[in-house]
Amino acid sequence: MTLFSLRQVKLRPGEQFRDPVEVELPAFAFGGERYVPVPEQVPAELEITRANTGTVFKLSFTARLHGPCYRCLGDAALDVPIRAREYQASTPETDELTTPYLVDGRLEVSDWARDAVALALPDQILCRPDCAGLCPECGKNLNDEPHVHEEADADPRWAALEQLRGEL
Ligand SMILES: [Zn+2]
Ligand SMILES: [Zn+2]
Repeated sequence: MTLFSLRQVKLRPGEQFRDPVEVELPAFAFGGERYVPVPEQVPAELEITRANTGTVFKLSFTARLHGPCYRCLGDAALDVPIRAREYQASTPETDELTTPYLVDGRLEVSDWARDAVALALPDQILCRPDCAGLCPECGKNLNDEPHVHEEADADPRWAALEQLRGEL
């Protein structure tokens, strides 16, 4: 876990601190599949700005995840650009003015980074945007072997049978 101690940073209002940090990312479970960050340690930039009433934290990096394509189960790699922002009020009155990642004067950078990536994941992780997926009839990869099964569509009795099957 990557922690960043705020004790090393003393800022006055208006002052800003930037530091390159290494963020450790876990594997992500998504849609029943597993996506592994490559590399696990991602170079990131942490920016801390002191305002009059609190502190603004910004974290930016790009995570690269490897895992199976949602459609064809082939290898997929996904770049997830992150620009996350958190705010901690000096004298917080509500939970909305605090960040859950600041604990005992330390910023839990890895937890924050993990949550930010999880929130930024698309609905489907694909090997390429136009992935043709697997054939629903025979299960072959339609990217490698584009084909259609004519008879299934051509014969209306198949459609009737399919409908019957769906109702059972
Ligand atoms: Zn695919
Ligand atoms: Zn097929």
